[in-house]
Amino acid sequence: MLVEPSHPGNVGAAARALKTMGFSRLVVVAPKIAFVTREPEAIAMASGADDVLAAAQVVETLADALTGVHWSIALTARSREYGPPQMAPRAAAEKACEFADQGQGGNSGVIALVFGNERVGLSNADVERCSALAHIPANPAYSSLNLAQAVQVLAYELRLALLSRAEASPAIAAESPTTVAPSASSDEIEGMYAHLEEALVTLDFLDPANPKKLMSRLRRLFSRSGLEHEEVNILRGIAKHILLKIKQ
Ligand code: SAH
Repeated sequence: MLVEPSHPGNVGAAARALKTMGFSRLVVVAPKIAFVTREPEAIAMASGADDVLAAAQVVETLADALTGVHWSIALTARSREYGPPQMAPRAAAEKACEFADQGQGGNSGVIALVFGNERVGLSNADVERCSALAHIPANPAYSSLNLAQAVQVLAYELRLALLSRAEASPAIAAESPTTVAPSASSDEIEGMYAHLEEALVTLDFLDPANPKKLMSRLRRLFSRSGLEHEEVNILRGIAKHILLKIKQ
């Protein structure tokens, strides 16, 4: 997923990076140029990945893009004070494969890589929507890669992780439990945060005029835990009962 990319060439090059590593799904969020995937520069840079570029989905918000996604990695060139747990790109790619495996035959295996705008990167709000954060350990004196090159590095890591899992698959199948609790999707988790926030405001615990960093801290806490579908339902149940009790 590319959030607000500015340069059509980067969108085309990202499509190429994905296709060369065996992936085909590109999502563009609120591009600076409306029909960016049809721009000549994008098509030229996509080269033989013109099919991936043409099939790219364009959506308005990252929330839309993450609907149905169960595990997402935010790629950032800078470190962030808040946000989900930070992982090395290799570890993040391996974890993504575990989620992809879990979802086989179901819909809980959709994972996403989330990249930011060329100039400003990802907003803190967008980073906080993701399940994990990864930084490519580049030269500390100049660590900002070109957008499509960052896509290439992560797509390569994901490919390596998938290849080594495929080789080891009988062993992995033997050791993994048959019933894995389904993880919560991004939209379920966002719905829970909205519900929880409403309950905390109604309780006067959260002052909307002066929210400080309460929701960011709660997001960080919950993203460390790896929320399951059922756990999100319990938290929503608690929020619902707080609201009912106060309104009585
Ligand atoms: N100046 C921006 C960098 C934008 S580069 C900033 O400070 O955030 C465009 C995108 O490429 C970034 O949003 C990120 O998703 C990715 N990227 C670039 N360098 C990266 C790095 N070293 N590690 C992880 N992602 C990186």
